[in-house]
Amino acid sequence: MNNIIQQNLSQIQHNIATYCQQANRQPNAVTLLAVSKTKPVQAILTAYQSGQHAFGENYVQEGVEKIQYCQQQGIKLEWHFIGPLQSNKTKLVAEHFDWIQTLSRNKIADRLNAQRPSHLPPLNVLIQINISDEQSKSGIQPNELMALAKHIEKLPHLRLRGIMAIPENTTDQTEQISVFNQMQTLFQQLQQQCPNQQIDTLSMGMSADMESAIKCGSTMVRIGTAIFGQR
Ligand SMILES: *Cc1c(COP(=O)(O)O)cnc(C)c1O
Repeated sequence: MNNIIQQNLSQIQHNIATYCQQANRQPNAVTLLAVSKTKPVQAILTAYQSGQHAFGENYVQEGVEKIQYCQQQGIKLEWHFIGPLQSNKTKLVAEHFDWIQTLSRNKIADRLNAQRPSHLPPLNVLIQINISDEQSKSGIQPNELMALAKHIEKLPHLRLRGIMAIPENTTDQTEQISVFNQMQTLFQQLQQQCPNQQIDTLSMGMSADMESAIKCGSTMVRIGTAIFGQR
């Protein structure tokens, strides 16, 4: 079990480096986020022992328990909240996580800003874009991005870092590339519109579409199954 996680991680790191090279990008241009939702904290510790530092969790309560356990062990990790967030759970995210990747509403932004403890650095924020325009998916429409970005920019306990998307599931590489290219264009527009922010994170690419995402400028891939196995 431990061995498998370590092997998977080094295989993925190798793949990331290969895809970066093919796209003429530096091998360290893409951060690997290990998505550990529903997996035991032991699996996280195993990944940590093979050098993995950034972890993504979808469920607030489960994530907070793992964060607290790791802190008690004296292990400092970087925690990303990547699930849908309801307003009654914002306080736990503000108090425990380092990043939220799924921000899509002014009201949630205001609550996170008010609830972020002042002894912590600002909460890093990605705005989620519903790039495939799916009814079932959360996130804002591309034409709503600048208004939300300008709102977040004014909140001192949040730090806008970029955008994320979960595109429609497809194995068609042409389709993947088309959607990821739209994300890259939006990302560049955001950088131009918010020159005083450190807009450096384009979070896209999962186990099945990582290669296309890296080709299109992803700076963070979110991988669960290919590291920890089926859920
Ligand atoms: C679960 C999840 C992932 C990881 O998906 P895998 O298919 O297991 O690699 C990535 N991003 C988000 C937002 C997720 O919820």
